[in-house]
Amino acid sequence: MNETDVPALLALFAQQSSENALLIMDPAGAIVWCNGTCERLFGYPGSELRGRPLRSLFTPEDADKRIPEYELHVAAHSEDVNNDRWMLRADGSRFWATGNTVGLRNKEGKVTGFAKILRDSTDVKEQLETLRNQLKSVADSDQHKTRFLATLSHEVRNPLSALASGVEIMRQQPAMVSDTLGMFERQLKHLYRLAEDLLDVARISTGKVKLAFQVHDIREPIANAVESVSPLLAGRRHRIDQHILDVPLLVRADPIRLEQVFSNLLANSAKYTPEGGQIELRASTGAGEVWVHVIDNGIGIPPETLPHVFDLFTRGDSASAQATDGLGIGLSLVREFIELHGGSVQVRSDGPGKGSEFTVRLPLADATDRMATSYNTPRSTDTSVGAAQPES
Ligand code: ADP
Repeated sequence: MNETDVPALLALFAQQSSENALLIMDPAGAIVWCNGTCERLFGYPGSELRGRPLRSLFTPEDADKRIPEYELHVAAHSEDVNNDRWMLRADGSRFWATGNTVGLRNKEGKVTGFAKILRDSTDVKEQLETLRNQLKSVADSDQHKTRFLATLSHEVRNPLSALASGVEIMRQQPAMVSDTLGMFERQLKHLYRLAEDLLDVARISTGKVKLAFQVHDIREPIANAVESVSPLLAGRRHRIDQHILDVPLLVRADPIRLEQVFSNLLANSAKYTPEGGQIELRASTGAGEVWVHVIDNGIGIPPETLPHVFDLFTRGDSASAQATDGLGIGLSLVREFIELHGGSVQVRSDGPGKGSEFTVRLPLADATDRMATSYNTPRSTDTSVGAAQPES
């Protein structure tokens, strides 16, 4: 083989290259030749491609921006042009093409045509998109964590400075001790709950939550939750209407965790409802389930926040302004605990200022469970969900 064979071999390469689509255009940009890969890739027989303007293979958006003309112009006047972009098939579908357009000049330097070589890189493009999305969500969650740490510092600092000034008051005015102790108790309770919530988040993420299942009437944890948030409700002059079905609503669940769930929902309603608001608590049953609704006429939730309210560290913008306390972990614990019980929780809001409604659904205890209760032998198993390791 010698150098004179090369043009024939190049022609064979152009015809037989199975990955690379090759197009040759005249100086006006009309297609004069293409290889088999090009026909396959664009979905046209070669006879239909010949004579077409190159621009007909571009997407309408790129054609409107006159990208095809720009590519040929640059290739004609300076250098090869990279042309990584979406291109159009005969059936209207698109693929991500990567390649080059080259201006073909004769000995005198006159442009006698163009060659375009490209390949389908849709897979690579999709992988890149996925990676980009993953990077973005890592960055987002990092930002959430940073915001969370800032909020946490405030949440811890506020009670600590209240405790510090309490100590000062007791030192200077010993008569104030009993008043100050009340404040100590409230602030310590707040700090304790904060630590418990944080521990719960850690336990859930490491699969170390312990649930003490027992058959009981869900009205008990509901009543306990109402009692525990009543100082908050009274402090904000809210009215609470309770519509609780007047029959036992038996569930097989951990009553302490259910109380925590309903306290969280009620406390949120109290926090995110302007003073003197109305909160409604409903409990009923149907379709083998118990339904508990917590409804308020408060600040509501914008549609863009709704899908994220149960995510860890999510705090609505208007919520942060309305209630300074809160770490954005309460609702994520609500969802985790309810799902660990085989139930579900949903949120509804018609938007800002239109109130919110949270609905918890839990399976009713089955016949065997109910029988065990009616013989007064409640099954109280200490069931560990996830790894059976000691709680940390
Ligand atoms: P936190 O209350 O500590 O911010 P949560 O996880 O309990 O965290 O709630 C997450 C977010 O959901 C709140 O910041 C708030 O934007 C929104 N939210 C929860 N409950 C209500 C409610 N009843 N009314 C309006 N917004 C609510």
